[in-house]
Amino acid sequence: MSNPSLLILPGDGIGPEVMAQVTRVIDWFGAKRDLPFDVETDLVGGAAYDKHGTPLHDDTMARALEVDAVLLGAVGGPKYDELDFSLKPERGLLRLRKEMDLFSNLRPAQCFDALADFSSLKKEVVAGLDIMIVRELTSGVYFGEPRGIFEEGNERVGINTQRYTESEIERVARSAFELAMRRDKRLCSMEKANVMESGVLWREVVTRVAADYPEVELSHMYADNGAMQLVRAPKQFDVIVTDNLFGDVLSDCAAMLTGSLGMLPSASLGAPMANGRPKALYEPVHGSAPDITGQGKANPIACILSFAMALRYSFDQGDEAARLEAAIESVLAGGARTADLMGPEGGTPMSTTEMGDAILAALDASL
Ligand code: NAD
Repeated sequence: MSNPSLLILPGDGIGPEVMAQVTRVIDWFGAKRDLPFDVETDLVGGAAYDKHGTPLHDDTMARALEVDAVLLGAVGGPKYDELDFSLKPERGLLRLRKEMDLFSNLRPAQCFDALADFSSLKKEVVAGLDIMIVRELTSGVYFGEPRGIFEEGNERVGINTQRYTESEIERVARSAFELAMRRDKRLCSMEKANVMESGVLWREVVTRVAADYPEVELSHMYADNGAMQLVRAPKQFDVIVTDNLFGDVLSDCAAMLTGSLGMLPSASLGAPMANGRPKALYEPVHGSAPDITGQGKANPIACILSFAMALRYSFDQGDEAARLEAAIESVLAGGARTADLMGPEGGTPMSTTEMGDAILAALDASL
């Protein structure tokens, strides 16, 4: 059988810097855990524009549709700010998401004990936090028609439409139930069924899908209450599933429970391919961080944790994903910090490469 295939798109800014550390981790799993990947690397975003005059070349798009998983660094930067909308680096990422039809966006909010002080909430509220938000990514109010700014009488009106079909709700609900089955088997669905018809349908469909997952305990919550509960007592949740708009807001809110942008991974999953694996794109939540590019200051952990998600969700290597997460946990517990993780007490921060060294050493120690 051939090795699983990975397309790596480092992108712009700190993307290539953090991805260089991920590549070392991938090589480690090949050499030390007999888990070799066929890796190819290509351009996306500004880097692709510089070479091809487009933020995503058609050949790269075609490869993304063929490989088992795509791993992306970050796109964007001030150099490209003046470009036409259709040529901006972000369009490359949006095209990937759209053509791969990645409808299920997984955003974990996990608080490493060593970093609990970084949260804006009290340590006891967030220590040990491990929740997952599943956001519908390809439909809802960001895509619904009609949309636009129209003349109405003597003033203008701005219109966006929240629209969900049953099948769109069902497929993201299934992906959330599947996820809950691999975790603590609790799923909370959030909408506003009290004031939105799309919310009524959302609740109905999620409840219907629940019949296929009798082991999962399903609850429903209005999304505004969900926002309050996330900051009041986030540990009550295991998996949360919600629509595109609420998911956008709630996942950013949950992310900040854990402290630093440099720590946050994500996965976007689509329908299963012929080999049973879902179409998948893994990427850190952070952007290209032009303010620290080229200085060796970037924290590579978000990108490395994105690879851990790939191990778990694309390659069925949950134990190896846990090994990698435990290595990161132990490095942090030992006091390793990049500049973004330095507390008020100060100290000398590690470089991006030194953090990579420390994680590889912890992986070696795990054998
Ligand atoms: P950003 O995430 O790039 O940076 C925000 C702040 O967090 C900066 O101070 C940065 O130095 C810091 N930071 C981010 N990642 C870090 C890391 N790994 N280690 C240490 N510090 C880190 O967001 P921004 O400044 O709003 O955007 C910069 C560029 O990135 C823009 O062009 C934007 O469009 C793009 N962007 C891309 C993505 C993506 O590729 N998915 C996401 C967000 C922003």
